[in-house]
Amino acid sequence: MTQMPQVRGTLTAHRPLDELTWLRVGGPADWLFQPADLEDLCAFLAALPTEVPVFPMGVGSNLIVRDGGVRGVVIRLGRGFNAIAVEGTRVTAGAAALDAHVARRAAAAGVDLSFLRTIPGAIGGAVRMNAGCYGRYVADHLVAARAVTRQGAVVSLTPAELEFGYRHSELPAGWVIIEAIFEGPTGDPDTLEALMEAQLATRDATQPTKERSAGSTFRNPSGFSSTGQANDHHDLKAWKLIDQAGLRGARHGGAQMSKKHSNFMINTGTASAADLEALGEEVRKRVFQNTGIQLEWEIMRVGETAPEK
Ligand SMILES: Cc1cc2nc3c(=O)[nH]c(=O)nc-3n(C[C@H](O)[C@H](O)[C@H](O)COP(=O)(O)OP(=O)(O)OC[C@H]3O[C@@H](n4cnc5c(N)ncnc54)[C@H](O)[C@@H]3O)c2cc1C
Repeated sequence: MTQMPQVRGTLTAHRPLDELTWLRVGGPADWLFQPADLEDLCAFLAALPTEVPVFPMGVGSNLIVRDGGVRGVVIRLGRGFNAIAVEGTRVTAGAAALDAHVARRAAAAGVDLSFLRTIPGAIGGAVRMNAGCYGRYVADHLVAARAVTRQGAVVSLTPAELEFGYRHSELPAGWVIIEAIFEGPTGDPDTLEALMEAQLATRDATQPTKERSAGSTFRNPSGFSSTGQANDHHDLKAWKLIDQAGLRGARHGGAQMSKKHSNFMINTGTASAADLEALGEEVRKRVFQNTGIQLEWEIMRVGETAPEK
C-alpha cells in the first residue's frame, strides 16, 4: 500500500462518503484528507506520489458517489479555508465557505452576490461548476481564484484561464481551489436580505428542498450541439421533456424523479448510487425515444460501481 505523507490535519483510510453528500449515497474513499491549513495541503500534495489520484469535493450537493467508492485521496476543505472578507465591493471567500454565508456577509456589507444565497454548495464547488441562478453565474462576478496544483504549488487563476461554460470550468485533475475573489454591484443591505428571503421561499415552493437531492439532474438542452452547430433546442427545459415522457415521479429502487420538480432526482431513503444512476439512464433513454433529444447529466458521478455480489 502507498505510504501516505505525514499531515497535521485528518487523514482517514476507507472513509465512507455517503454521509458527506446531499444524496447520502456512495462507498468509501481509499483516503479522506481534511487539511489543517494551506501549508498542510501544499506539503501533502507535494509529497503524495504522483500516481495517486486526487479528487477535491465540497459539500457534495452536486455529486453521486458510486457505491464502490473513490480510489485515491478525496480532499475536503473545512475550517482554515472558510474565511470571508469584504473590502469595498470585493468579496474574498475561502473555498469551504458556504455560498449562502458568502451571499449574506456580502449583503450585510452592501454588496450584491444574492444569487449565491439559495445554492447549497461551498465556494470551491461554485467556482468549479460555475454555479448560478436567476440569470447570474460565478463567471459574471469572479475576479480571480486561487488553487493548489496537484504538485502542491499555489497558483492564481483568471476567469479566462478557468474557461467557464454552462455549469462548467476547466480545472486540471487533482487541483484544489482554495479561495475566490468576487466583485459585486452595490445594494442596500435590507433590500438584499428581503430579496434573498423571497428567493428562498420560491425555491421551497417549487423544488424538493427538504429531500435528499443534488439539484437539477440534467442540463437544460442548449441551443448548440456539442459540435457547436445551432439546433432547435433554445427554450427546451429538461423538466418539460421528462414530464412529456411521463416520468414525473418515476422510480427505480429507492430513487425517484421528484413529483414536485421532475428534473430533481431524490433518494427516498433506501436508494443506492446504482439506483439513482439507473433511473437517470432510464430517463435519458425514454426522453430520447420520445423526442430524439439526448439529456446530459448535470449531477457529477464519480468513483467506481460496487463489485457484483
Ligand atoms: C437543492 C439543490 C439546489 C441546487 N440549485 C442549484 C442552482 O440553482 N444553481 C447551481 O448552479 N447549482 C445548484 N445546485 C447544485 C450544487 O449546489 C452546485 O453545483 C454547487 O456549486 C456544488 O458545490 P459543492 O460544494 O456541493 O460541490 P460538490 O458537489 O462537492 O462537487 C462538485 C464539483 O466541484 C468540485 N469541487 C468542489 N470543491 C472543490 C475545490 N475546493 N477545488 C476543486 N474542485 C472542487 C468537485 O470535484 C466536483 O467536480 C443545487 C443542488 C441542490 C441539492
